[in-house]
Amino acid sequence: MGSITAATDRLTFPTQAPAPGATTCLKVEGVSLRYPTPDGGEFYALENVSLEVKDQQFAVLVGPSGCGKSSLLYLTAGLAEASSGQILVNGRPVDGPGPDRGMVFQAYTLFPWLTVRQNIEFGLKRRKVGAAERKEIVEHYLDEVGLTRFADNYSKQLSGGMKQRVAIARALANDPQILLMDEPFGALDSQTRLQMQQLLLKVWEHSKKTVLFVTHDIDEAILLGDQIFAMGARPGRIKQVLNVPIERPRHLDMVMDPSFIAMKKNIFHLLHDGGAH
Ligand code: ADP
Ligand code: MG
Repeated sequence: MGSITAATDRLTFPTQAPAPGATTCLKVEGVSLRYPTPDGGEFYALENVSLEVKDQQFAVLVGPSGCGKSSLLYLTAGLAEASSGQILVNGRPVDGPGPDRGMVFQAYTLFPWLTVRQNIEFGLKRRKVGAAERKEIVEHYLDEVGLTRFADNYSKQLSGGMKQRVAIARALANDPQILLMDEPFGALDSQTRLQMQQLLLKVWEHSKKTVLFVTHDIDEAILLGDQIFAMGARPGRIKQVLNVPIERPRHLDMVMDPSFIAMKKNIFHLLHDGGAH
């Protein structure tokens, strides 16, 4: 019974928006990432990047290809190391990957020899979560991403959108503090992409995880985000921080609202004016 109670607690999600002044989940402090160049110089993939994301916020990194979005996400995931500066998750410096950070990549990363259910269960088993609790968590996330009927399928039997649904469920099942998503819908056709944006909005409304989401698509950034970090390249840096003043819950047809369009123009000019990329 103990483990079932724990699972039920875990599934009781807060539904209200974060209170103003909520605690900081992610802090990036003066982070640079340098690579040596063939002429003996240095190339700044990221230069002196600082940002802060509050608990339960949906933050988006948007910018042109090569501005360091993936690099910043990988550093946060602990999959690479900054040349200088530091990254804190819940006040603790990141020094490697950990279960407090869940990743969803653009490329499909399901284990092909495991079923949908087993993929979602993978991290729970590794952390030795008991069978009853595992089952409850897996059933919950299968339902959240609409894959209950496909629980026993293997990844080769799934469409791209379905694979990304599994990847989202797998990441959330581990109950991370923060979900890191690197262009997770970038390889999907436009119709599926819209469906996945809607699905992610719903899942996030329920789970209220802190999210750091990478995209180069301005519509996607505004539709999903509370806060947008607009980045520029050479060197990779944050050009502006924007709060998205559009109410939640968000819907796909909000892309036609005047406030949405005004914000889109603003970000478009930020990213494209002045030869900044
Ligand atoms: P984005 O995700 O915004 O497209 P990346 O983070 O992938 O950008 O890359 C940022 C910059 O760093 C790019 O110019 C890329 O070519 C460069 N870069 C990434 N990895 C390496 C590496 N291992 N060696 C040299 N340059 C790299
Ligand atoms: Mg990238």
